[in-house]
Amino acid sequence: MNLRTAFAAFLVATFLIGGMPTRPLAAQVSPKSSFGYADFSDEAKLEEKFLAVPDAKLAGEELKTLTAEPHLAATPEDHRTAEYVARKFRAAGLETQIVPYRVLLNWPKVVRVEAYDPAGHLLMSGPTREHVEGDPQQDDPRIVMPFNGSSGSGDVTGEVVYANYGRFDDFNELAAQHIDLHGKIVICRYGSNFRGVKVYLAEQRGAIGVLLYSDPQDDGYYKGDPYPIGPWRPETAVQRGSVQYLFRYAGDPETPGVASTVDLPDSARIKNYEGPNGNQPHIISIPLSYHDATPILQALKGPGVGQGWQGALPFRYHIGPGGVKVHLVSQQDYQRRIIWDVVGKIEGSLDPDSWVIVGNHRDAWVYGAVDPSSGTAAMLEAVHGVGALLRQGWRPKRTILFCSWDAEEEGLIGSTEWVEQQGQVLDHAVAYFNVDVAVSGPDFSASAVPSLKEFIRDVTRSVPSPVAGTVFQQWRLNRSAGNEHRGSNAPPIEGEEVHVGDLGSGSDFTPFLQHAGVPSTDVSSTGPYGVYHSTFDDFAWYTQNADPHFVYLQEMARVLGLEALRMADADVLPYDYAAYAREISAYVEDAKRRAGDAGLGSLDFAPAESAAARLTAAAQRAYALESAPSGNLAKLNLVLRQTETALLSETGLPHRPWYRHTIYAPGEFTGYSAVVIPGVNEAIDAHDLTRAAQQLAVLTQALDRAAQTLEGAR
Ligand SMILES: [Zn+2]
Repeated sequence: MNLRTAFAAFLVATFLIGGMPTRPLAAQVSPKSSFGYADFSDEAKLEEKFLAVPDAKLAGEELKTLTAEPHLAATPEDHRTAEYVARKFRAAGLETQIVPYRVLLNWPKVVRVEAYDPAGHLLMSGPTREHVEGDPQQDDPRIVMPFNGSSGSGDVTGEVVYANYGRFDDFNELAAQHIDLHGKIVICRYGSNFRGVKVYLAEQRGAIGVLLYSDPQDDGYYKGDPYPIGPWRPETAVQRGSVQYLFRYAGDPETPGVASTVDLPDSARIKNYEGPNGNQPHIISIPLSYHDATPILQALKGPGVGQGWQGALPFRYHIGPGGVKVHLVSQQDYQRRIIWDVVGKIEGSLDPDSWVIVGNHRDAWVYGAVDPSSGTAAMLEAVHGVGALLRQGWRPKRTILFCSWDAEEEGLIGSTEWVEQQGQVLDHAVAYFNVDVAVSGPDFSASAVPSLKEFIRDVTRSVPSPVAGTVFQQWRLNRSAGNEHRGSNAPPIEGEEVHVGDLGSGSDFTPFLQHAGVPSTDVSSTGPYGVYHSTFDDFAWYTQNADPHFVYLQEMARVLGLEALRMADADVLPYDYAAYAREISAYVEDAKRRAGDAGLGSLDFAPAESAAARLTAAAQRAYALESAPSGNLAKLNLVLRQTETALLSETGLPHRPWYRHTIYAPGEFTGYSAVVIPGVNEAIDAHDLTRAAQQLAVLTQALDRAAQTLEGAR
């Protein structure tokens, strides 16, 4: 703990005395005005009524119900959670439907790992059952054995090579050391990039199988006490997860761009989803605990690891090959299975075709107390609050949809199929507000498209924090304390009170923003969380470590609900394109520098720079109009909404046409974190001058289109 964090802890401790667990709403400062509203006074009263409803105790009961059984997508237990959520939506007065899709999912029949020394002696066989002292839910026979969604099937034996985090640079380092991966089994630790990227890079380099393990350095005892003493990963806990090639496209592997409705004929489903354009690996991938990875890594010979490759297991790591062979067996039962989204609707009174969408997935690898049930409980309490307003006769101006997605864990499937089914209808969706891992601790963080970054800051200025003051004030305090558990977000950049991150991937905003061009946000409240995707992400872990009084579920319910209300009722859509244009200009300048560094100095950035300048000018004029809303607001709103759509390109990104947004995509080699102006930057990374020039032209056209659209504002 450094001095500044010690000071923050002192402040928190001071506020806590006598303050927990519930706090009156007096701490909240009701704003007198809000961007996008000519007169905010009625809305401010409405928001106050809403904020009084979400209830911590009820949220805790909802979380307990949602986590009572393992509820992997497409299981009967998952269907029961769909019915539960649908009942809650209906009770609040939402017009509710359970929407099924038929999608390809693998369930494991056999997963086995055995390691042998050169003399043929068995060093380990696994996976070892996940077990700790005293967890009440760990022995349920319905817990699915550790496996990777989208793993191939097969039976392979090979020498082992350690590839650190399995990043692009890690594999390049192995190549530089002349370590050939053909016929090898690669072992990588989790962390730093999306697991599907690790498998993709290993497959490209000829590996026949991949072991993905959780190193204690990244989320185990090196960080702090493991569960059940503390929140960090215990020895036998395994991170399940999808290894889908999400950077190609999200959703059902058989239906890119098409909705997998239950009656979609098999002839309309593609077969080559393991091919160069598909989103499935064909090699085996198996996740391991550090208990099971230890004998393999300890026996591994070959060169010792260099800087940044040593983990926290108590011996020196070696790269291999040599010293150990492993035998992997993976029998995956691939079937088209039925999944269930739940969609609850409140018809808008003035502009019913404009949709404000709130979404969270419901399926979990096991119990999913944090991921995603904390999000579902928060959403249910937001719905509870909105339901109370409905009973008092209120109607939103725009339509609000609350959506509970299925099969997110296997590859954002429920949300993607739904987005693909809506098609052009989503051109009128004014916002998508995502929540997934809603609460793993007390530290608020957010990511958003730049036009909504100030919007999300504003919303948090109106929501009381369970500690003291507002969520915004705690967020800012936490930033200045340099808290290390703040999810994906970087420290604030100069001039920003708090930093709002960029949207990469790894949750259900991806189809909305990056495929359909719907302005999106993602929020969470984070803390030390070492049980991600293991059996121990359960109710007992949650109440011990994350949020014993469920006050952060209440906080997140208020944030989500307020996002929806404020967006649905605004006179003018509160998008800040001036901020968007500023970020785009910075991305263009940065790409220009990177091109110079990569020896592509002959690329002409002038057209893109002038298109960005034109967008900036148009955005500043639009901002002035939005600040004093009057006249034909329907026209202004239409123009504002179409500006985001104008940033989509019809052809999509090279090699991955499903990704159509020219400003944001999940990185081909990072997966979770956003690559900005991806067409251009990825061509620069590949040192491909021709492609970089083409992609600069595509970007310039998109910026010109957006500028021209926005110039229509008056
Ligand atoms: Zn999740």
